[in-house]
Formats: sequence, C-alpha cells, structure tokens
Amino acid sequence: MNDSGVTCGRISLYINDIAAPGTYVGPRSTVKQRKRAMTYRAPVSDILFSLRHVAGFGEAIDEGLFGDLDDATAASVVEEAARFATEAIAPLNRVGDVEGATYENGRVTSPSGFRDVYRAWAEGGWAGVTAASEYGGMGLPHAVNAACGELWAGASMGFALCPLLSEGAINAIAKYAAKPLRDLYLPKLASGAWTGTMNLTEPQAGSDLNAVKTRAERSADGTYRLFGQKIFITYGEHDMADNIVHLVLARLPDAPAGTRGISLFLAPKFLVGADGALGPRNDVRCASIEHKLGIHASPTCVMIFGDSAGAQGWLVGEENRGLNAMFAMMNSARLGVGLQGVGIADRATQQALAYARERRQGRSGKSANGAMSPIVEHPDVQRMLLTMKAETQAARGICHLTAVAIDRARHGRSERERREADERAALLTPVAKAFSTDIGDEVASIGVQVHGGMGYIEETGAAQYLRDSRIAAIYEGANGIQAIDLVQRKLPLAGGEAVAREIADMRAIERAVASRGGARFGATAARLSEAIDALEAATRFIVEARDAPEDALAGATPYLRLFGLARGGACLAKAALAAEELAAKDDASELGRVALARFFAEKIATAAPGLAAAIATGAGALEDFDRTIGR
Ligand SMILES: Cc1cc2nc3c(=O)[nH]c(=O)nc-3n(C[C@H](O)[C@H](O)[C@H](O)COP(=O)(O)OP(=O)(O)OC[C@H]3O[C@@H](n4cnc5c(N)ncnc54)[C@H](O)[C@@H]3O)c2cc1C
Repeated sequence: MNDSGVTCGRISLYINDIAAPGTYVGPRSTVKQRKRAMTYRAPVSDILFSLRHVAGFGEAIDEGLFGDLDDATAASVVEEAARFATEAIAPLNRVGDVEGATYENGRVTSPSGFRDVYRAWAEGGWAGVTAASEYGGMGLPHAVNAACGELWAGASMGFALCPLLSEGAINAIAKYAAKPLRDLYLPKLASGAWTGTMNLTEPQAGSDLNAVKTRAERSADGTYRLFGQKIFITYGEHDMADNIVHLVLARLPDAPAGTRGISLFLAPKFLVGADGALGPRNDVRCASIEHKLGIHASPTCVMIFGDSAGAQGWLVGEENRGLNAMFAMMNSARLGVGLQGVGIADRATQQALAYARERRQGRSGKSANGAMSPIVEHPDVQRMLLTMKAETQAARGICHLTAVAIDRARHGRSERERREADERAALLTPVAKAFSTDIGDEVASIGVQVHGGMGYIEETGAAQYLRDSRIAAIYEGANGIQAIDLVQRKLPLAGGEAVAREIADMRAIERAVASRGGARFGATAARLSEAIDALEAATRFIVEARDAPEDALAGATPYLRLFGLARGGACLAKAALAAEELAAKDDASELGRVALARFFAEKIATAAPGLAAAIATGAGALEDFDRTIGR
C-alpha cells in the first residue's frame, strides 16, 4: 500500500478521497470543495459519441476495417480505461503537483503512488493498446488509443506523459528498426516493463533541429557510440520501470550538414543481452531535472551521453534519415499532446461547473425571496461554462477525426482510400495538436475565472490545470511551428486536394444543418457557412501567397485558429445532427448537443471572418517592425 491508498496488482484498488499529502487546505474551502478538487469524472459518453457520430469510427468498424472488433468491445475498453483513470490515476494528480519528481545523485524519484500505479497500469496491458499482437500489444485502432490517451491526461497530465513518450518510441521502433532490435525491445515496451523517451532537444537546437550537435561514432561491432547533451527530456530518468529506452538524434562524423545529416539511435539506460536480460549501465546519465511551471510529476531531464567511452547505441532506420523515423514518433505524439489539451480542458470544465453550482453571489433572474444565487445562474458565467464545454468538444472532434484518419490510412480497403486518409491525417495533425492545446490553455484559464479569487488559490486545483496545460502549446513542436507546417507543407498536399476535400466535408455538414432547419439550431447553419467561407478565402490567400512567403507566414497562426474554428464547428454540427436523429427515434437524451453546436456557431465561430480579414492583410503591418516595437 502506498500513500495514495492504491495497492499494486491487477486493478485491485481503492482510493482515498482525502486531500493529498502537503495539500494546503485553507479556511475558506468547505469539505465538499476540497473533495471536489480530487475528483475526476471520465467523459466516456462524450468520447464515445464523438468517435461514433463525429469521427466515423462506427462506420470504420462496420466496414470491417479492424477485423473482429465490434463497437461494444471498443466501448468496453474505453470504459475500463475510464475506470482505471478515475480510480487509480486521478488521485495522483494533486500529490504529483505538490511533491513533484525529485532528483538526487543521478536518480529521480517519482511522487508517492506513481510507481505502484504505473505498474498496475502496465499490468493492465495499457502500454500496448496499439502495439502489434506479435509483440504482446492489443493491436487496437488509434481511435481507441485516442480515447485512452485523453483519459490518462485528464486524470493526471504528469503521469500521462510517460506512456505518451513510450508510445512514440514503440511506433518509431516498430516502423524503422531492424528485426533483432524490434524483437528485443518491443515486447518490453509494449508490456510497459520498460519505458521510452525522445531525445531531440539540445541547448542550441529546439525548433530548429538542423543545429543538433550530439555526435555518433561508428564502432567496429556495428553499433555506435553517442556523445553529447540533451535537455528537456521527459521521463529521461525515473524509478517506475526497470529500463528506459532512449531514442536519440545524433550526427555521424561524415554526415551532410542540416537535417539530412541526422540519424536516430536507440540507447538503453541498461544494456540488454541477446536473451533480453538486463546488463550493466550504459554510458548515459541524468545530470539534473528542471523546476518548472507545471507537470511537476513529470521529470524534465538534462541527459548526458558519453561521459567516458560513449553511450552504446543502435541505428534505427538508415544513417542520415533519422528525422523521418523521428517524425513517425512525433506525429502520434502530436495527436497525443492535442488530446492532453482536450483531457485537461474537460477536467477544468467539470470542476468549474461544480464550483459554479455551489458558489453563491448576487441575485439572478431566478432568485426567490432575494436570496443569493449560485453563480451558475448568471448569464456571463453560463457563457464561460458553455465556451469551455463547446471548445473542448470541438477540439475532441478534430483529434478523433485525425485518429480515425490514421486508422483508415493503415487499414483502408483500397490504395486510394489509404492515400487520401493519410493525407487527411497529415493535414489535420498540426490542427489537432495546436488548436487543441490552445483550447486546453484557454479553457483552463476560463476555469480559473469561474472560480474568481479561489481559482488563483492552489487548493481548488483550478490553478494546477492552467499551469499544467501551458506546456502543451510548446512541446512536440511549438504551436507557431505547427501553424507553419500547416500552411507550408500541408496545404499543398495532393496539389491542394487534401484541404479541398476537408472543406467539402465541412460544407456537406453545413448543408445538412441548413436543410434540417428548426428553431433548435438557431443560426448554426448561417454562422457555420460564414466560417467556412472565411476558411476558403484565407486558404486561397495563403496558397496564392506562395511567392510572398512572409505574407503566408504572418498569417499562419491565425489561419490554424480559423481552420480549427471551422472544422470544430462542423464537428459539433455533425454531433447535433446525430442527436436530432436519435431524438426522432424517441431518444432525446443527446439534444443538448444541438444547443452546444448552436452556441459554438453563434458565439465562438463568429471570430472566423475577423481572422480571415487579418490573414488577408499579409505581412503589411509587420513591415516596419523595428520602429513599431521600439527599443
Ligand atoms: C516540460 C518540457 C518537456 C519537454 N520534453 C521534451 C522531450 O521529451 N524531448 C525533447 O527532445 N524535447 C522536449 N522538450 C523540448 C521542446 O520540444 C522544445 O522546448 C520546443 O520544441 C521548443 O523549442 P525551444 O524551447 O528551443 O524554443 P525555440 O525553438 O527557441 O522557440 C521559441 C519561440 O520561437 C518560435 N520560433 C522558433 N523558430 C521559429 C521559426 N523558424 N519561425 C517562426 N517561429 C519560430 C517558436 O514557435 C517559439 O514560440 C520539452 C520541453 C519542456 C519545457
């Protein structure tokens, strides 16, 4: 038993519902409020609705793309993940924040409870959701994994980062490593016995990986020796698993300059014998961990490779083609980071709503006998809460579309279907990452606002969501870099056909809403139509600005936001159409989705024409930057 009240073993858990050790419990909070800071309700029905009715996962299952997998089995996996997230991981969230990971003499100790819950999580088979069954994985679709990833992050972002990085390592090794490496490492990673890391960043090489300096030298035995320093390495060292498998970008002595001269290597913390047994320590160590704004439970490590003879490494993929392999890891990780934004936004919304229902201030129109009203009755607070909910669902829809596109790219029936799905996944990935993490930030910030002063005080937990969510817009490619990727590399995909197909899909939804009509939809179709018009106009401007790249680059971030608003609005409208269909079959339980789509279209997506106008002015207003910014 550990401090969190969690016993190790196959999901035999009970959870304390008390404030975590070290949590400040101030005089203003009621017992109920303190407990609320600890609770998490996994949004299973919203996730399943989005997968089925927005992202087309149900259709993909019906088409038989995933063999025997049926809807009920997929749902039961998500429900089981929800149970684990709620009962085991969520109670770690606060203790992870308060205690944080600690460092002493090269060793990193996880906060109380993390190690046991991680081991229970691995025993449950969760490390291998998408990994191939030949390596002990469950071989499930990315759509199911997306659902699980959101749940882990909603429960505790600090915890969820470890599995996210391992999943990226599994993907890169499965796709690019030679068979002996795959056979040696994948079963251990897919079982969660070992974890994975991604070692890209160096002090001089962040967004610009051309500048990577870590050196790789060829050894006579066909392996390599690595020398260099990596910074900001998530879970680069910890005590939750028996070994840590580092994937490291480094440069060979005869490599060409720039990103074409970067190779990817696998370098474990403990060397591994041919029989899989752990051998001596490799020449890699953690020199320190960072003190940071949030995700305190997740150690962010400075890693030193090659203090003496060099860290022994094995090539993954081909020499000098390391970035290709790394992108295999980063694309899934980018979607995973987008889902962190969704997970934390959902949790922040749950907490803000519960607080708003209890906190009484002022008198609303509903107030009887002049009594103070719960703040949830005030229109401005309702606006904040609906904004939180609508933005969260919009981002979730985009992430789920991306996940199902990844699945179709792999399992689609025809070559054409697979290619188009691959292009769709490529187009949507930067939007899923950047839009969703911006939403995570915004929603967490609104959550603090709903709490008023108590939101700024740590005991409610609202402040932690804001601190934790902030990093997601920065790592896995800063959001500004995602926007540049969208306008420079993704809009030209398939000669512009990929974005044209996406816009056509949004138009079809808009037309379906317009023809459905009815008071419940309000101006949904009209506002959605304007948002898509704005996206079309901005896309034309960016594509035509190819000869004036500064104009496109100046508009990249507003363009990504505009894309997210139009695509997110269409996702909510599609959910609303499905809810109406259910209502026509006497199930009115989902009709709130119609009102939510309307709220998004009328109150949030209306920013779209303004963004298009800003994009259309290109880099003009930046031209006299030095004079404008002043000294
Ligand atoms: C908590 C944490 C965990 C991390 N985990 C990992 C990890 O596990 N592995 C790993 O390898 N790295 C990790 N990182 C590093 C992270 O990926 C980088 O911080 C991120 O990619 C940004 O790089 P940078 O910090 O050097 O910022 P910079 O590249 O210096 O960027 C600073 C700003 O300039 C902008 N910018 C940069 N270049 C351009 C350009 N060409 N055009 C327009 N704008 C530009 C960026 O958008 C950003 O806003 C982590 C970082 C943190 C803080």
